[in-house]
This record gives sequence, structure tokens and C-alpha cells, in this order.
Amino acid sequence: MRTTYAVGIDVGGTRIAAGLVERKGRIVKETKRPTPKTGPFAVVDAIIDVAEEVSSAAHPSEVAGIGIGLPAQVDFLRQEIEFCTNLPLAGVDVRSLVMSRTKSEVTVDNDGHLAAFGEARYGAAKGARDFLMITLGTGVGGGMWIAGEPYRGSRGLGGEIGHTVIDLDGPECPCGGRGHLEAYLGRPALAAKGRAAARTFAGRAILDAAGGDPDAVTAEAVVMAARGGDATARQILLEAGEVFGRALVGFVNLLNPRLICVGGGIGESADLLIERAGEVMRGEALAGRRDVEVVQAVLGNDAGVLGAAALAFDEHDSREGLHR
Ligand SMILES: [Zn+2]
Repeated sequence: MRTTYAVGIDVGGTRIAAGLVERKGRIVKETKRPTPKTGPFAVVDAIIDVAEEVSSAAHPSEVAGIGIGLPAQVDFLRQEIEFCTNLPLAGVDVRSLVMSRTKSEVTVDNDGHLAAFGEARYGAAKGARDFLMITLGTGVGGGMWIAGEPYRGSRGLGGEIGHTVIDLDGPECPCGGRGHLEAYLGRPALAAKGRAAARTFAGRAILDAAGGDPDAVTAEAVVMAARGGDATARQILLEAGEVFGRALVGFVNLLNPRLICVGGGIGESADLLIERAGEVMRGEALAGRRDVEVVQAVLGNDAGVLGAAALAFDEHDSREGLHR
């Protein structure tokens, strides 16, 4: 049976958002709550609560299933959580726990993959068969679409674009590695550069954007000062854009995507960083691959919910033998 709705749930380190989503991507009911800090089962209970809250607006037979995006390494085939940096969910069978309580089909996936799903189905990458999604936020994540399908790798652990080595001797990455892309582009990296600048005369606009306290400088304060035209803040974003552009050269040469879609809180607000990255990539990518478009994601905070719902629709349709 062709169902009308799917439930999409986006589990983040600070909040859990859920939506009842129509096939065309309209969110008809949504809710969110802070992510509990009291252990794995409190998080699972919160996921079940938001799922039940939004699905109460539809009859169970109209709901295709529940998709859940997690900030985790997910073995997609086994539906197991291998590793989760910000939440205590590694090894927790989120899928079975949510399925047994909600009596709905449940599919879990990595949040970067689902951001790609959302943009592919409903956003900036609509219609693109080969594209790369990169999310710039606290972490740097992403997903790949190859020949019109999400590409997750052999176990679903692929797409960890943020942990591409940029410099063998570079700064330490939150994953424990060294010189990875995330160590240059993640919120903590941009904030650290902003804090250092805010202690100098040249960084006074950044200091102002942080309310006058250099320790309170965030990546957002740097972006805000750059938008106001401050040269020091602009320089921080241009340098980050340079690094990002170099990384894109490698991805474009390897995958020859038509589109690179950049999302996440930083990706959607730091226009200067993205523009610079596009210039660097076009200047260095091998001939014939330079026409790739670099665009900003358009779904904003809804990307995770919409992507999770799109996954739930697809999983339902393939179970039922329906074609998209
Ligand atoms: Zn790393």
C-alpha cells in the first residue's frame, strides 16, 4: 500500500526533533525536545515519545515507518550503532527498542547520510544523480549519492568526509587523528581562531560579536563579524575555505560529482568560506571536472527530519516492492 506519511527523527547532541512528513516533503506536525543527558535509555525513551507525539496526527496504516538519524557511525546493513561521539548510544539497539514500543518499521542511519537524503529528495540537490553532501557544523560530516542512490560503503560507515587527511602534521582532530578536515572546519577550530584573534587589536569586531568576552567567541561570532565586513574575521573564513577547497579538489577528482551541496549551521551561513572553497576547487581540479556546482543546502534545521522521513518512505516502498 502506498502510504501518505513517514516519521523523521533527527537526534542531535543537544536536541531531538521529529516530524510527520508527507511524501512531497511537507512537515504536517513537528516537535522537539532537549536530548536527555541521563543515559542511553532516556535518549531512546525521548525518541519514542517524539515519534508517538507526531504520529498521533495520522492513522497507523497511513504511516510508512520511522527513520532515525543519529550522530553516529551506523552499520546500515545490520542496523547497529558502532560508535557515537556525543551520545552514549554505541551498541544500543535503538531500532529494535523503538520498533517494539511503536509497532512501526524503523530504520536508523548516520545523520550526514540523511542530510544528503533530505537535500536529494526535497532540497538543493533535487534531481542530481551524482552529488556530495558536506555538513559543516560542530563536526564535519556528509554523504554521497552515486548514480541516483545513496552510497554508504560496504557496512554503511562511508561518507566520513570530515576525517580526510589534509596535513600529516596538522592539528589534532576530535576523532583522535591528526590534520583531518574537521580539525580545520569544525566549530571548535573556527572558534579557537576567533578567540585568538579577539585577544588582538585586529580582532575587535570578533570580540564585539561575542559580547566583549574573548572566551565567549564562537564560530558563529566569527561568521557574524565577517558578514559585517571585518577583515580579520573574513581572513579566518577565507583560510578555512582554502583548506576546504583543497579537500574538494580530491573529492571532485575521485568522484566527478555534478554538485557539491554544503549544509550544516556553518555551511549555510558562512557564504565567504563556501565561495572561496569553490574558487580553489575550480582552480585545481583536473580538467573536465571543474564545472561541478558548489551550492548551499536549503533545508536548514529540517534537513535531518526530512532526510529521515525520505529514508523511511524508501525502505517502506522497497519492502512493499513499490518503485519510486
Ligand atoms: Zn578526524
